[in-house]
Amino acid sequence: MPGGIGVEGRDDARSRGVIMTDQQDWRVRASCRDEDPDGLFVRGAEQRKAKLVCIACPVRTECLAEALDNRVEFGVWGGMTERERRALLRRRPDVTSWRELLSAARQDALGEFEDERVG
Ligand code: SF4
Repeated sequence: MPGGIGVEGRDDARSRGVIMTDQQDWRVRASCRDEDPDGLFVRGAEQRKAKLVCIACPVRTECLAEALDNRVEFGVWGGMTERERRALLRRRPDVTSWRELLSAARQDALGEFEDERVG
């Protein structure tokens, strides 16, 4: 199942903690969609290897936003381990919507790219 890889119970955590919306159609485009879950249920150093799947994932931002907004505690989501997400959440307690923040940051980056390409 796409979105969030790395430890046992990830699907349980996801299904309990996340309200599915149309915006979550991103899952069908996830790079980890066809990964063997047993090979992705890892901890510690093995998470570095699991994160490699996320590098070129087209829905990395959506995945990370979902994990941050829903305080998902386990697994690799959006290329970040649970430890990395916890650190980020501690650094930015002011953020009320990671989806909005990351989406805006992506739009800004795309705009800058377009400006450089055109101008
Ligand atoms: S960012 Fe990683 S965990 Fe999230 S959907 Fe993409 S491949 Fe899966």
